[in-house]
Amino acid sequence: MLKRSYYTRRKRARSNKKGKRKSQKLKNNRKRKGAGKTPTPSTRKVRATPYQTRRSVKRSNETLLDLLARCSQYSEKVRERMENPNVRRLCKFDKSCYRENPKHRVSFQHSNENVGQVEIDAYRECTDKFLEKSWELYKKNGDQLPNEWYVSIATHLKTWDYNDQRHLYFNILANICQHGEMYVNKYSKRFIENLLVGMEESAVTGMFDITSRPELMECLARMNSPDDRYLSNTALLALVKESSNEDVPQT
Ligand SMILES: [Zn+2]
Repeated sequence: MLKRSYYTRRKRARSNKKGKRKSQKLKNNRKRKGAGKTPTPSTRKVRATPYQTRRSVKRSNETLLDLLARCSQYSEKVRERMENPNVRRLCKFDKSCYRENPKHRVSFQHSNENVGQVEIDAYRECTDKFLEKSWELYKKNGDQLPNEWYVSIATHLKTWDYNDQRHLYFNILANICQHGEMYVNKYSKRFIENLLVGMEESAVTGMFDITSRPELMECLARMNSPDDRYLSNTALLALVKESSNEDVPQT
């Protein structure tokens, strides 16, 4: 008796799951159909479009607002992991672990880890994409950040809690601090300057006390920031000021 009811419960649970997946699929299909001009009937066996890259096409059409929403959601997951040490089990290779993958480092503890650095690294991808997308908008708008950019960052990056070093915004600043020179080389001084000033202008600001974060004090010191105890938009402006006396003309 007991066994049977257990079985049926499981069975029901499984079929529920299936049903859910199916309806999700249906939903997706409907969405796709809506997006295309001529919806192909589902009975057709030959595909009308040979493109397999639908997903990646969608990705590149992602707006900055979408991207930041995704990163913001992601940051909640990272926060949850990092705030609950019980959730992060010790990696079986611990100190001899060679996996540098940020996902792995967030998921598992290593007794020789720098927790702060693990978190910063977890946001590297978001920072890269944020700058990439911002650059795209900047270029499309005649070397100026468009209104869309200001609205997007105000929506997802603004925080009033300057003690919150788990916030997406803080971790983006941390990545700009640590990889600033690379970003300046990849884009341009003027762009990075506009980005930092633009954040300041839309009240995406904060002076984060990093006196207990040597990995961040170090990058501020490296760029000769006037104050290496607080991480902020303006502290990072040293990235573009310091190198300006190398007088490389921007064309
Ligand atoms: Zn490991």
